[in-house]
Amino acid sequence: MAQAHLQIDLSALQNNWRALDAHSATGVETAATVKANGYGLGAGHVAHALAHAGARRFFVAVAEEGLAVRAAIGPDLPIHVYSGHMDGDARILRDAKLIPMLNSVEQLTRHVEALPGHPFGIQLDSGMNRLGMEPAEWASVAQIVLGQRPVLLMSHLACSDEPDHSMNAQQLAQFHEMTEGTGLPRSLSATGGVLLGPEYHFEMTRPGIGLYGGAPFTSAQAVVRLSIPVIQTREVLAGESVGYGNSFIAPRDMQLATIAAGYADGIHRALSDKVTLWAGDVPCPLVGRVSMDLLTIDVSDAPEPPDWLDLLGPHQGVDDIAGLLDTIGYEILTGLGPRYARRYL
Ligand SMILES: *Cc1c(COP(=O)(O)O)cnc(C)c1O
Repeated sequence: MAQAHLQIDLSALQNNWRALDAHSATGVETAATVKANGYGLGAGHVAHALAHAGARRFFVAVAEEGLAVRAAIGPDLPIHVYSGHMDGDARILRDAKLIPMLNSVEQLTRHVEALPGHPFGIQLDSGMNRLGMEPAEWASVAQIVLGQRPVLLMSHLACSDEPDHSMNAQQLAQFHEMTEGTGLPRSLSATGGVLLGPEYHFEMTRPGIGLYGGAPFTSAQAVVRLSIPVIQTREVLAGESVGYGNSFIAPRDMQLATIAAGYADGIHRALSDKVTLWAGDVPCPLVGRVSMDLLTIDVSDAPEPPDWLDLLGPHQGVDDIAGLLDTIGYEILTGLGPRYARRYL
């Protein structure tokens, strides 16, 4: 089999949830964000494992994502939808018992007309200008809305991965101003906000990336290991070229392994000539271009020809790869393709 293995350590995931939960006081609920198919790792498996660890509430981005989560966690635990109530969502919200986080008066109207009495929350814009009701909009409907008992008021921080950024305190103050005295449960923080400290926790936090082992939760346990099988090894002589465009010319005689993954699997072509894989503890640099389904790796330093090489594992995490590409671990994780055999530990 030439299928690469994406190993997902569910007990590390559970430990990360427990560790983030321990950052806030006992009375603060730690929910879990499992959008984008559980950050690419399989929403059903991830939600099921987190529910076993103690998570009692889940968040997805769009209503359709709620189905797999609902199937995995059973009928009772609440699932919230960040994008709120979009046109055509009523049936899925009702059947899967999802709670839309309403983002505008338009969504509010749609929701009460389509699903009167169905639970909802409200998303407020405290300064990020992405989703949620703005202060003036909220002020104009707050009294009526509060009479309908939303289950949660939430907002989202734009700069929580930079603890010293003045935007954090600014949004905190704005969120207080918009929600003080409502007596309703409130949530402001994702992973970054959990780490900012208790004044950011309110009644509920909703981390995502930290659960999956990514920054800014730097003490997280690694959750993913990506191991790619060797299809073929060959010797190349000094001066021979390797791969598309002849972009690599062997500077000396070398031992090369051709392995079964490429840019179609989320291994960005921009990693050509840049990244190192690992044969156990031995670093083995990628040479030449990343192809759609294949990589060529210099395994000259491996004591014996390896059968597998790790791109992600104990020596290298998603944030290390992200650093090479000037992006963030979230993008690497959610970009891991569908062709891997996902194996759950
Ligand atoms: C994605 C998201 C989260 C989780 O964020 P992380 O940084 O992954 O912890 C929380 N809230 C909202 C609104 C989000 O979009």
